[in-house]
Amino acid sequence: MTAGGRRFAPGQVVVRRYFRARNGLIIVQACRVVSDDERGLLLWMPVGSRNRRITTVDGRRYEQLSRAEWDAADKVLAEHPTRRHHILMLMPPAPVGAVAWHSVFWFFEPDGAFAGWYVNLESPAARWSDGLDLVDYDLDLWVSPDRSWRWKDEEDFETATREGLDWSGEQAVDIRAEGMRLAKRAEAAEFPFDGTWCDFRPDPQWQAPAPPPGWDRPPAW
Ligand SMILES: [Mg+2]
Repeated sequence: MTAGGRRFAPGQVVVRRYFRARNGLIIVQACRVVSDDERGLLLWMPVGSRNRRITTVDGRRYEQLSRAEWDAADKVLAEHPTRRHHILMLMPPAPVGAVAWHSVFWFFEPDGAFAGWYVNLESPAARWSDGLDLVDYDLDLWVSPDRSWRWKDEEDFETATREGLDWSGEQAVDIRAEGMRLAKRAEAAEFPFDGTWCDFRPDPQWQAPAPPPGWDRPPAW
């Protein structure tokens, strides 16, 4: 069984919630459960999913402001629906005691064509009845369909590492190593980069989900 001993039901709507020390809850992703088994939790987040992300009350994002301006501003979790791609997400079961972990996202064009993989480096997730809570580690990988890859958001990762609020310098080494481990798997075309689910199609009955009640509750840890 998964941590917490709880499995989600296929078709259930759950939220993936990203927390950080400075701002608390920063991102809420509304997803449909595809399956939840030994391979991990597989989630579908189509265009139109009614996600939320933290902004200032007048709608500006972290990247658009200086750190001082951001810290001084009043913030809200504004609706921020998925716009460009449908996304299939795999959250593999994490080893006990792991800190550096990951999810893998399959990006699809609106017409269903596979567009590439995204590796989100993150903490193992804590589950609750309708969701999963995790710490996002900023650093990500983009893997093209030809399996060439590049880092994303290295600068944010280095800044956050220096600040030391969410992970230590030592943990940062492990987080980057986790990213490299996935990059090597991509280069070798090993699962999950072996073509699995690149032709995924969701249940045609599924509507784009909205976060269930309780999406703004305190973190599960
Ligand atoms: Mg990330």
